[in-house]
Amino acid sequence: MAAGNHITVHVAMAAVVCWEAGGGEAVKVEEIEVDPPKWGEVRIQMLFASLCHTDVLCCHGFPVPLFPRVLGHEGVGMVESVGEGVTEIREGDIVIPTYLGECRECENCRSEKTNQCQTYPLQAFTGLMQDDTSRMSIRGGGQKLYHFLSCSTWSEYTVVSTNYVVKVDPRVSDFPLSSFLSCGFSTGFGAAWKEAKVEKGSSVAVVEGARLHGAAKIIGIDVNDNKRMKGEAFGMTDFINPRKHSDQKSIPELIKELTGGSGVDYSFECTGVPALVNDALEATKVGIGKMIMLGAGTQKSVEIDFVSLLGGRTFKYSVFGGIKVQSDLPIIIRKCINKEIEKLDELLTYEVHLEDINRAFELLKEPDCIKVLIKF
Ligand SMILES: [Zn+2]
Ligand SMILES: [Zn+2]
Repeated sequence: MAAGNHITVHVAMAAVVCWEAGGGEAVKVEEIEVDPPKWGEVRIQMLFASLCHTDVLCCHGFPVPLFPRVLGHEGVGMVESVGEGVTEIREGDIVIPTYLGECRECENCRSEKTNQCQTYPLQAFTGLMQDDTSRMSIRGGGQKLYHFLSCSTWSEYTVVSTNYVVKVDPRVSDFPLSSFLSCGFSTGFGAAWKEAKVEKGSSVAVVEGARLHGAAKIIGIDVNDNKRMKGEAFGMTDFINPRKHSDQKSIPELIKELTGGSGVDYSFECTGVPALVNDALEATKVGIGKMIMLGAGTQKSVEIDFVSLLGGRTFKYSVFGGIKVQSDLPIIIRKCINKEIEKLDELLTYEVHLEDINRAFELLKEPDCIKVLIKF
């Protein structure tokens, strides 16, 4: 079974497997085998992982229904073994697996306009490694398992291409919470920093990344009043709970009232709910407003109100908040070390062990829940 100098065996370990679309009973902790890493890959022993709404969508077959599948795309772990050709990452390194790569050479990597590498793209549609094979199977020579987003972090061991891996300085405070940097936090932070390029004094609806970039007004919108405090910890200046307004005003109307009638410079839409996507677009300024969509819904398409578009507004979808994985993610990690970014702990609501993953899904449904950390 030897596959490289340091690698001798397949590893049998526990992982969360979704067996069919629908989640619930279909999500089980299984004993699986994880193959040694091939050329340019590393095998990672996961230390912590976390839950993101995209994992829930994956259980419902998003973006492609491939089952059985090892779930999870947020996490942090330690490199257990390296494949041939791996030079910059060593055994024992602490790393974050991600779902976008960065070759630094292709047209897109050389452009400041996008984080979508052409060579190492979003691995969302095949459920396999780039060589179109899987590294995971049910224990005992059983069924092959699909990967999720080049990560499959809800597994005691996972294999990831080094192009989709970023080293983490273990000095990062609240080390287990660096799991949130692999999707949730960085997506929000990056949306303000890289996608909107929020300027000093501008107005923004939603998002925790805006404070660091000088936005004067940051409006949070949520039907749960308890989210207000969390938002304020991340720089929110105003809060709208649409259910608390008996005057039947729409969300865009309420946002315009708070911004002198014109709307915000930037809005961030994180739900994928069609009505809210339209609200987020309409809430931006005519001509210069930009709506950035970060989330995804269960439906494949969304109808956009043409009247809002006629206002010359921009509608942009952002994967990973526009963060370039190799160039930008280390900057976010450094900001965590030097305390420019704090309060990751404000995002943590619950901790569960891997074997309690079904409980984690239930906890995520609670209205006050932001992040669930998974311990191995
Ligand atoms: Zn995510
Ligand atoms: Zn590239």
